[in-house]
Amino acid sequence: MSKYVKFTSERVNGELTPFDGFAELNAYRRKLRELRLIGVDSVGIGFGNLSMRDGATKNFYITGSATAGIAELKPADCAKVVAYDFERNWIGYEGSTVPSSESLTHAAIYESDATVAAVIHCHDSGLWSVILNQALMRLFSVTDVRSKKTLAMAGHEGGVVTFGKDLEEAFTVLMDARKESAPCVNDTFRKRNPA
Ligand SMILES: [Zn+2]
Repeated sequence: MSKYVKFTSERVNGELTPFDGFAELNAYRRKLRELRLIGVDSVGIGFGNLSMRDGATKNFYITGSATAGIAELKPADCAKVVAYDFERNWIGYEGSTVPSSESLTHAAIYESDATVAAVIHCHDSGLWSVILNQALMRLFSVTDVRSKKTLAMAGHEGGVVTFGKDLEEAFTVLMDARKESAPCVNDTFRKRNPA
């Protein structure tokens, strides 16, 4: 029996040293906030985060949890993830801000593809449902879901992740995906809300 393991984080080192991509991170974060892909929802809960790999290491810098409402980040609003354990749902970090539990999703992407150097996690319900439905159809062609007749859905409504060799690419991928999904989103919207 597997059981849910609560997310924990641990500050393994002291202060975060200033990092090279910080200005770029803030610039892309500003664009995402303007598009309301990162921010604070109607009940005051922040959503969305960005990260950048630290050189060729497995470490990465990520915006801190509960910083989504801040217009302009200071370096102290970021954390550097320097260790993680997927089974224990645990991360070790440097800095004075706690990285979010979603840091493990970023870690999984950096771990899986060495060419990825930037990850964006935002909330976009339209794009989310389009990707989810496409992934569902893919499951039938590439897995044994057809015979198992069972699947799991991650409970993260609206959550979208894009990545790339840098933030520019991750951002462009996100913008292109939104553009491409727009006809489907509008179509779904029309079906749900006939004029
Ligand atoms: Zn999220």
